[in-house]
Amino acid sequence: MNSLSKKILITTFIISSFLVGLFFVIKNASKSALTLQRNVSVPDNTIETSKTAVSEITDDKKDIKQNPFPENVDNQPARFLFFGDVMLDRHIKERYGKDFAVLLNKLKETDADFFKGYDLVAANLEGAVMEGGAHYPPVNAYDFSFSPESVRDFSGDIFNFFNIANNHILDQGQAGFLETGKNLDKLGIGYSGCPDGKVGECTLKIIDVADVKTAMIGLSIVFQNVPKEELKKILVNAEAESDFVIVNIHWGTEYGHVAGKSQVEFAHYLIDNGVDLIIGHHPHVIQGIEKYQDKLIFYSLGNFIFDQYFSPDTQEGFGVGVDYDLEKITYELIPYQSKIGIPDLLQKDAKAALLKKIADWSDGDEGFKDEIRAGEIKNF
Ligand SMILES: [Zn+2]
Repeated sequence: MNSLSKKILITTFIISSFLVGLFFVIKNASKSALTLQRNVSVPDNTIETSKTAVSEITDDKKDIKQNPFPENVDNQPARFLFFGDVMLDRHIKERYGKDFAVLLNKLKETDADFFKGYDLVAANLEGAVMEGGAHYPPVNAYDFSFSPESVRDFSGDIFNFFNIANNHILDQGQAGFLETGKNLDKLGIGYSGCPDGKVGECTLKIIDVADVKTAMIGLSIVFQNVPKEELKKILVNAEAESDFVIVNIHWGTEYGHVAGKSQVEFAHYLIDNGVDLIIGHHPHVIQGIEKYQDKLIFYSLGNFIFDQYFSPDTQEGFGVGVDYDLEKITYELIPYQSKIGIPDLLQKDAKAALLKKIADWSDGDEGFKDEIRAGEIKNF
């Protein structure tokens, strides 16, 4: 081979290597841009605000979390995970105040992939989020306040949405309610819900969860009902502007396992008005599940993080995993038991035993109860 041929060969090799390298750089750059776009959509409340639901978006977005779920892949179903009540004050703060992240350690230890692949992970946040965890006067017997740092440390890269419609969101007054919104905005965590008995702009957020337009409605009817006319307008709006309408609702009798008549009637009203899924909390224990018009009502998921160590019932609960795609929706029931505030996944016989109890507390035919006992409901 003469020197000219050698030069041509070497030059060709260098150019082709450069082109191959360039191809991979461009490919990866576009992929990470996609991932970033997908994952900021929930935390940053890229919300299509509707006329009756204006979200409280702040300009201060520098603290917003990036990439909470980097492993999410396009063309997969949108995946949701719901839990019940989270309370980070009182004995939980005393015991775990230095590191709230340990509260999720057992779940992660038992299954390292437990939280992976979910696009939205939500719970009911049972109290106000205040600078320094401040308690504004008057301080009541049950008076909850969580610092932004405690919520951040607990949530980690896992929780990106909280229902705040409950009977403790006004523990620090109206000022505390507004401060909660601002602090959650700063943390880049989505939220919805007005104080007990109220509906309004705070009730609904519409968010993009893995390309599924999802209406997140938060309601609390512990002490008083919400005005039906105003609620109806919100429901009509939610149905018109989203693909999947989810209601988080705080209701029911504390420590009772079977949903009351008024809960059942209200749940049916919600579904008759376009709601696709109801996630309930507040009783501090599990209540049953009902299928109505091919939609599911989870009357109460039980405590998730709470310092009620006084009975087995207040220390068991279940998460609901939802795989949503256009053809079908699959629901997974994930039972756990807590020890001193830390939930741990139930396995084998213990898991089967709790699923059986949930089936017993539920209303429905044997086929439906079989699904509950199997931990998967998918006939949709
Ligand atoms: Zn409550």
